Amino acid sequence: MRPATLLILGASGDLTSRLLLPALGQLLQREPARELRLRGAGSDRWTRKRWQDAVRTAFASADAEDAYDRVTDTDYTHADITQVDDLKQLLEPITGPVVIYFAVPPAVTVAACEALRKVKLPDDTMLALEKPFGDDEASAASLNQTLLRLVPEDHIFRVDHFLGRATTLNVLGVRFANRVVEPLWSAEHVRSVLVRFDESLALENRARYYDHAGAMVDMLQSHLLQVLAILTMEPPATLGDRDLRGAKTAALRATRIWEDNPVRFSRRARYTAGTIGDDKIPSYVDEPGVDPSRETESLAEITCEVRTSRWAGVPFTLRSGKAIVPNTAEIVVVFREVRHLPDGFGGTPGDGGVLRFSLGPDAMSLELNVNGGEDPFALHRRTLGVDLGPGRTRAYTEVLSELLDGDVTLSVGADAAEECWRILQPVRDAWRRGDVPLEEYPAGSRGPADWPTS
Ligand code: NDP
Repeated sequence: MRPATLLILGASGDLTSRLLLPALGQLLQREPARELRLRGAGSDRWTRKRWQDAVRTAFASADAEDAYDRVTDTDYTHADITQVDDLKQLLEPITGPVVIYFAVPPAVTVAACEALRKVKLPDDTMLALEKPFGDDEASAASLNQTLLRLVPEDHIFRVDHFLGRATTLNVLGVRFANRVVEPLWSAEHVRSVLVRFDESLALENRARYYDHAGAMVDMLQSHLLQVLAILTMEPPATLGDRDLRGAKTAALRATRIWEDNPVRFSRRARYTAGTIGDDKIPSYVDEPGVDPSRETESLAEITCEVRTSRWAGVPFTLRSGKAIVPNTAEIVVVFREVRHLPDGFGGTPGDGGVLRFSLGPDAMSLELNVNGGEDPFALHRRTLGVDLGPGRTRAYTEVLSELLDGDVTLSVGADAAEECWRILQPVRDAWRRGDVPLEEYPAGSRGPADWPTS
């Protein structure tokens, strides 16, 4: 199946202009044989010309101006997508395969999916939904049921663009294709794992969404748990969607907060006023649109255990914060110390080496304990590094490529979407009860003072 129409709902929004359209331009540039009918719709009263200009500008931002020639029949429709009549008007003229991409706020997606039940969908309709998928386990399950009344599971693409990131995918190759890594990938050899996404961006006028989500829902619930699943799943028989998604879901099903103790093994914090580069950043609570009484965290951390025979006893820490300097997005796999180090070496290594995947810029390094030099048996650290960029594709380019080919391998399965909420529910309950203090850190710092940084 090769969908012929991409219909973006929420065409005037931030996701569409900043991520989807540039990625679409890059995809069309990369695959000259691909053609597409592109439709935009949304509640803004845009003209056809304004939409076409937006598409051209976004393609240009990805150095893909020429690809504009291959989107045909581009048009924009003003529509409230929660209204059945508007949806009918939008969908009835479309024939043949179509991808409907919900680039709208989560509550609007839910209402639109309900409304779609009263609309005849074109043949071969594929639905693409953004995060957050629901706002707890029950609402995710309910949304899954609604979607399954519209199309079969293999026509539902729950987008998590971290699954399209080159370095996330690279974990698969490094894990499964290297004899020097594959046998070491277990609690027998790995001491701890950190998955971290700290960014220097502050709220950036996104309070309408972020102040309801916070760092845990925005980053940990979706993206970082997907990375954890890729790191910890058993080897799938194939990289096909059933095997890969099944292996990831099994890993998530085995995941719990460390010692089932969300009070000891979660932390939350919020930034106070500070400076990032030349910019003065106001305190999170003074950002426009923030309601301080919500106590939304801008930095979240949890430690989990994956209770399988491969991983029991290894702490996996997931952490993400805003307004943190420097930007650090990485997976850090720390190996256990060797069982015995012959007497005579100078210094103790402290660990048995570290494998580090940088999620941006795309890079990998292996930190080894080596000796030599003036004192031939003194141990010191040396790093073997490889730069995996530049020239790598955007995460959304991979996502759109699969989506437009009707392949759901890089999307989140129905069960996995529910599991991610289940894992975090005890933490959310503890935070709501006020059992975990809301700490503070200055914008532009590395986070709260005693917070470990690597
Ligand atoms: P925005 O608020 O910027 O855009 C949402 C768009 O939906 C706007 O064009 C809005 O129009 C439109 N819209 C709202 N209600 C309706 C309606 N009833 N009928 C038709 N159109 C409607 O949000 P984002 O683009 O930031 O986010 C969209 C989704 O993508 C969210 O689920 C978000 O979590 C997800 N996401 C966003 C990322 C980002 O960086 N922005 C990154 C990853 C995921 P109007 O302005 O007129 O209300």
